Amino acid sequence: MHIHSCLSPCGDWEMSPKRIVQQSLEVGLDLIAICDHNTAENAGVAMCEGEKQGVHVLPGMEVCSKEEVHILALFEKLTQALEMQEYVYANLPGENNPDVFGCQVVANENDEVLGENPRLLIGATRLGLHGIVEKTHELGGLSLCSHVDRPAYGIINQLGFIPADLALDGVEVSRHVKLSDAHKTVTGLDKFCCITTSDAHFLDDIGKVWTVFQMAEPTIEEIRKSLLQQEGRRILV
Ligand SMILES: [Zn+2]
Ligand SMILES: [Zn+2]
Repeated sequence: MHIHSCLSPCGDWEMSPKRIVQQSLEVGLDLIAICDHNTAENAGVAMCEGEKQGVHVLPGMEVCSKEEVHILALFEKLTQALEMQEYVYANLPGENNPDVFGCQVVANENDEVLGENPRLLIGATRLGLHGIVEKTHELGGLSLCSHVDRPAYGIINQLGFIPADLALDGVEVSRHVKLSDAHKTVTGLDKFCCITTSDAHFLDDIGKVWTVFQMAEPTIEEIRKSLLQQEGRRILV
């Protein structure tokens, strides 16, 4: 649910959409989401590759809020993710310096470089958390705070707590916390359904941890039901 491609400045050069899908298949994942920092420009190619190779790929994004909190926005359709991207780009100041932050490569299905994104994708947007959640929902997506157990860009460390009026669909714990222990290990998660993801930046990281969803099909609606434990859908821990 949270894999970075070579478009994230911190994502490895080898994280092309094609190779991400190949690696996911190899480690036995059947549903993944491409979530680059503040962009979804490599999601479309990954979705096509997924269709060819037999891995379901959701288009997503890891947005950095003005509070410097990372939050995942997961969508069903590419058009929804691209609309979110437009909203984020309009509120993302700065230009990338590849020597300092790394290259931001848009790739095609043949692992060729189509271009580099000039924006400061690693930066914080001018968007508040509440606005990001609201926009994600308006577009039909799911909103989950990233790596809530981590000091860097995790909501609990940044704000001290998760605001009660933040309409999150769930939270993600990093691979440093066992999903089954998450509610015991991390305080303040009582009200939230947890998932775990690799937050992979390198091919070898893909599938290091995963979440099992008990659901009928790999759609946003089914994931939503799993997070809410509705109609027999659930997260297996
Ligand atoms: Zn993050
Ligand atoms: Zn990430």
